[in-house]
Amino acid sequence: MKTILTGDRPTGKLHLGHYVGSLRERVRLQNSGEYDKIFIMIADAQALTDHAGTPATVRENIFNVALDYLAVGLDPAKSTMFIQSQVSELFELTAYYMNLVTVSRLERNPTVKAEIAQKNFETSIPAGFLCYPVSQAADITAFDANVVPVGEDQAPMLEQTREIVRKMNELYGEVLIEPDIFLPQNQTCRRLPGIDGKAKMSKTLGNCIYLSDDSDTVAAKIKDMYTDPLHIKVTDPGHIEGNVVFTYLDAFCEDKATVAEMKAHYQRGGLGDVKVKKYLLDVLEEILTPIRRRRAEYENRPDEVMKMLEIGTRAARAKASEVLRRVKRAMKIDYFDNAH
Ligand code: ATP
Ligand code: MG
Repeated sequence: MKTILTGDRPTGKLHLGHYVGSLRERVRLQNSGEYDKIFIMIADAQALTDHAGTPATVRENIFNVALDYLAVGLDPAKSTMFIQSQVSELFELTAYYMNLVTVSRLERNPTVKAEIAQKNFETSIPAGFLCYPVSQAADITAFDANVVPVGEDQAPMLEQTREIVRKMNELYGEVLIEPDIFLPQNQTCRRLPGIDGKAKMSKTLGNCIYLSDDSDTVAAKIKDMYTDPLHIKVTDPGHIEGNVVFTYLDAFCEDKATVAEMKAHYQRGGLGDVKVKKYLLDVLEEILTPIRRRRAEYENRPDEVMKMLEIGTRAARAKASEVLRRVKRAMKIDYFDNAH
């Protein structure tokens, strides 16, 4: 069996980082026909670990994320899309996995560490936030997933999951499947920088181009994009390292030869930022136009979208409860289960 599990936090609309880091691959894998099961999770419980005081934001963004899914081409006939909090089996698994992970191990997680610094949690880290990698292990293993298509920031989470799986299997017999991370081939897509040049485009940092941004907004964001501060006159030689416009061309433009030519011209001098930015806008518009069109279609059918999630959640729950039963049997806590 080849099974995928991946997902997103409903903390905002989805952006280009999500698109190249995970969404585009998901759609490709979905349509490859090589996978028996694909589970796509809207991680609202995880979002609440750092949004406990703003549940309305999380609720509202469930619909936004579902719209973005449908807009990029995730198809409910092929991929099971569901809401994490409604699959209570995940939280039972989390409780058992929690006993196999030390606090110091959780504190060493580099992504969590960076997020704690970014959110200024300092000494007031919610326990749920520190432990979210454990709940992620539950999310992945509850579906017997062996492939997890995500961006590079998720690598430490996958490592944590694999450790938990090994520990569970060592203690209770071969009960869980050890998953592999699936990163995009293109290095640039593994961690797309923000339009401000910061290391990661992220909802929290507010440096995003959203899949739902209209053309004018995208044009304005590209216009303000960080380039090369030393490239003052068009005739000056320019730098492409750390120049976000070129990074985005690497991530989004299929025509690699034209990008290579533009890079050489820019480095020689004589190619202005305005021209490169105009080209990037054309490239992005070609990708975003059909996404926007599909999003608008579904936006007017909220009942249908929520129904799709309800059906998906029911299917996800059926699978997770089967795995939970297996785990409890292995852990010898199946007192009233007469099935065997
Ligand atoms: P938040 O700031 O709330 O954490 P986020 O923008 O980091 O939001 P997530 O929902 O945490 O988004 O991430 C969902 C998926 O998208 C993950 O697989 C993650 O690796 C991927 N992803 C997010 N941002 C990027 C990025 N800039 N480049 C590549 N992949 C990304
Ligand atoms: Mg994140």
